[in-house]
Amino acid sequence: MRDQQWLNAALGSLLGGPFADMPQTSPIAIGYGRAAKNRMGSIRLHKGVSSILINPLLTSPEVPEVVVLSVIAHELAHYAHGYGSHTPRKYPYPHRGGVVEKELQRRGMLAQSRLADTWLNMHWQKHYETCRPAAAAKAKTVSALDAYWANRQGRSMARDEQFLQSLSDRLAQRCGLAPLSAVWLYAGSRHKYSSYRKHLPDAPIEVHPLLAHTSVPGAVLEFEVCYWFARRHVGKSSRLIYVCLAGWGLEAEYQAAMQWRSRCWNALLARQRRAGR
Ligand SMILES: [Zn+2]
Repeated sequence: MRDQQWLNAALGSLLGGPFADMPQTSPIAIGYGRAAKNRMGSIRLHKGVSSILINPLLTSPEVPEVVVLSVIAHELAHYAHGYGSHTPRKYPYPHRGGVVEKELQRRGMLAQSRLADTWLNMHWQKHYETCRPAAAAKAKTVSALDAYWANRQGRSMARDEQFLQSLSDRLAQRCGLAPLSAVWLYAGSRHKYSSYRKHLPDAPIEVHPLLAHTSVPGAVLEFEVCYWFARRHVGKSSRLIYVCLAGWGLEAEYQAAMQWRSRCWNALLARQRRAGR
């Protein structure tokens, strides 16, 4: 049974193994938190103690142990980077640039973490719906904000960084173009557009995380990515961009995205502002 004792032992095995050489700048406690839909774990510093909370839906025996271990390891990587600990902060953002994955790789835990991610991508949704049918039904009508914040935490299961990158790769291949990396934007209230790209040859496409919610049509995301492919090709002119997209056979995506934009985008942004987070 995955009770408190089991959890302590799991934490102990990581601290005594892959994380043995990590400086412990504050004591670490572990426990079960909220049965959330999109968050598997968290770490925060409270009264001098780094407290790791694990989603209690991970206690079920059908969830492979490697998933729980990898969630704990993810939080310990944050600890090592100075998030939720007294360790000096190593990076300006907790997830940007894949710093957690790199940390896990350094500690020989990348394969396990990939396994866990695969399981979560394939089974989590169903598992959640089975465990919490009422909440799951309600979540179907949940706002895009939840996806937005889940993505800022980097733990959204729906459209994560990997999803976005593989979308970009697929589209580049389909249009016969050089690939571009695509990431979710670390968005603040000043970000009014649905995607951005800096004027640098290797700059990634940065897509607003409000588009991460699965209620946003896939064509909209495809358009966001292809827009930047076209822009790299023909510059800023929206007429030329349209011609370019049409040439790649993406007229339908273009129309769908324009329609969605005029109907939904401003309302979504306004809701995000009102929520005032
Ligand atoms: Zn994280």
